[in-house]
Amino acid sequence: RKKRLAQLKELPGKTEDGHQVELVANIGTPKDVKGALDNGAEGIGLYRSEFLYMDRDSLPTEEEQFESYKEVAEKMEGPVVIRTLDIGGDKELSYLDLPEEMNPFLGYRAIRICLDQVDIFKTQLRAILRASAYGQVKIMYPMISALEQLRAANEILEEVKDDLRSENVEFDENLEVGMMIEVPAAAMIADILAKETDFFSIGTNDLIQYTTATDRMNENISHLYQPFHPALLRLIKRVVEAAHAEGNWAGMCGEMAGDKRLTPYLLGIGLDEFSMSGISIPEVKDNIRNMTLEEAKEIAKKALTFSTAKEVEDYLSDPK
Ligand code: PEP
Ligand code: MG
Repeated sequence: RKKRLAQLKELPGKTEDGHQVELVANIGTPKDVKGALDNGAEGIGLYRSEFLYMDRDSLPTEEEQFESYKEVAEKMEGPVVIRTLDIGGDKELSYLDLPEEMNPFLGYRAIRICLDQVDIFKTQLRAILRASAYGQVKIMYPMISALEQLRAANEILEEVKDDLRSENVEFDENLEVGMMIEVPAAAMIADILAKETDFFSIGTNDLIQYTTATDRMNENISHLYQPFHPALLRLIKRVVEAAHAEGNWAGMCGEMAGDKRLTPYLLGIGLDEFSMSGISIPEVKDNIRNMTLEEAKEIAKKALTFSTAKEVEDYLSDPK
């Protein structure tokens, strides 16, 4: 069976009736690219750039960042989605002197910090844009909860592009810019956000946490952290439909994308890109290659009829 999965490496994530989706990997550093490629990743759907900023005592320079992003862009033939700094929440940076907070996951984190400390953001955007000359780089903002944040981030990005143009520094003028959907407010206005962005990637780890009001790190309440909650299924479907209505693609980079019990549901509602840790790719691909899109649509439709997470999970664990 292991051998069979290994043989899948070169094959596309395509259903029996020819519907193809993109199977890509989540990485934290350039060192993770090898594992992604070994498992047949067609690209990187989430490059968690914050690891570059962690375990050190000062901010990484533009040059250091550029080298890391460029290395990944060059090694991957397919797209590389670089997420801008997602610090705060559970991830600290000693040298940034982030405030102690009552509710760090609801506090000063990710795009909120970047829109406040614009120098840090601009340095990173310069590095990413420069790396876009060496591969198929895309930019993705984390933790957007309102349209103003998306606009503000895009405005800063345009300023940085102008700077690079005036310095005659090369970058990909057609680079796609998208955002994560990991806050319920963003999921609910996905139709609005879709008009001003190129793609969505659903961050289910945080989306589950915020939708169910369940701290993703707290073991006492982990039974309430429910990926199969009907609310999640509905939100995700809504986001994919909103993207498609604007001609955009929609992916998923939270853990749910790599759970093969959810593969038929996600396929059935039209998810275009599945990003997961490299080791999960062969199983999910195998799953996709052994069903039809029609079957997946039927399963998705049925999954949406249940009332509790338990019912959804039981059904999706054995839908036949
Ligand atoms: C997510 O929230 O689903 C996600 C992919 O981001 P992270 O796990 O890095 O918060
Ligand atoms: Mg997240």
